[in-house]
Amino acid sequence: MSEIEKTKCLIIGSGPAGYTAAIYAARAEMKPMLYQGMQPGGQLTTTNEVENFPGYPDGITGPEMMVQLEAQAKRFGSDIRFGFITKVDFSGDIHKCWADDGKEIHAETVIISTGASAMYLGLESEQKYLKLGGGVSACAVCDGFFYKGQETIIVGAGDSACEEAHYLSKLCTKVTMLVRRDEFRASKIMAERVKNTENIEIMFNTETEEVLGDGQGVTGARVKNNITGEETIVNATGFFVAIGHKPNTDIFKEFIDLDETGYIKYAEPGTSHTNVPGVFVSGDAADKRYRQAITAAGTGCMGALDAEKYLAGKGH
Ligand code: NDP
Repeated sequence: MSEIEKTKCLIIGSGPAGYTAAIYAARAEMKPMLYQGMQPGGQLTTTNEVENFPGYPDGITGPEMMVQLEAQAKRFGSDIRFGFITKVDFSGDIHKCWADDGKEIHAETVIISTGASAMYLGLESEQKYLKLGGGVSACAVCDGFFYKGQETIIVGAGDSACEEAHYLSKLCTKVTMLVRRDEFRASKIMAERVKNTENIEIMFNTETEEVLGDGQGVTGARVKNNITGEETIVNATGFFVAIGHKPNTDIFKEFIDLDETGYIKYAEPGTSHTNVPGVFVSGDAADKRYRQAITAAGTGCMGALDAEKYLAGKGH
């Protein structure tokens, strides 16, 4: 039989949302327990420099920032654990969660901060430069600035790709957009905006064969027209991938209302409430629109305040 542990507040995930929830919950004497998840520190650990989080005038690297957030959460007594939650049962008043370390956790409140994972093409060359921090990124708003005055490539044809291509076009001399079909998936207005931007070149029916580099950073991509078979080299120092995100919500779907793309639905707009009383959501698991560290941190705070209020309502 698994060991049962009880907690007032279980936080699942360790991005800016999870750690901010932990800071607030710990300072409110809720003694939160936090499971870090598969990727301790979350998506920011795959970003280089974070320059848009208020309070860091000189910027900070993503991994460093997450170490600081973890330390801040620990300072107030959060119980932070390396491991992940594999299963939940939210059918009763006490929320049961099982962790990969064999523990069964009975939580009065749960704050889901499991985030979303950016999807990548999966090419070996793409992963190589992503891991090196050498020019592959899935977030133009985070990393676009580093390519100011340079040429970039963006892959994708949805609203995100269009929004990010437009963002990059204001910073870069040229943006080449690689679209795998002969049309956009994005809304007409977003696609039109991209088409009407002078320094964005759109290559339809085009797929990436290889991300090219000099061993340190990206220098371009070898791309192929999937109708004619013709191969072209596109020069660029930044290779942006905007082919969608997958929210990490699979283990909750039996109990928590999700939208058609798997994001958790807020039961009450403007709060962190889910459809299950005592279960709250913060960060990218419920946000396909903003996806920023600062917005995730903000909703992490909301999750902890809502959990505190819920417990107070139960006489704690
Ligand atoms: P989408 O799933 O809408 O689009 C993904 C795009 O990536 C598609 O064009 C798809 O091509 C392409 N793609 C997928 N896999 C590959 C691959 N292996 N190689 C090349 N291209 C690939 O994701 P988004 O992130 O753009 O949007 C998610 C949701 O968020 C949507 O509902 C969107 O409307 C919404 N959103 C709204 C915004 C706004 O309103 N401001 C801003 C951003 C997002 P294909 O079309 O061929 O399948």
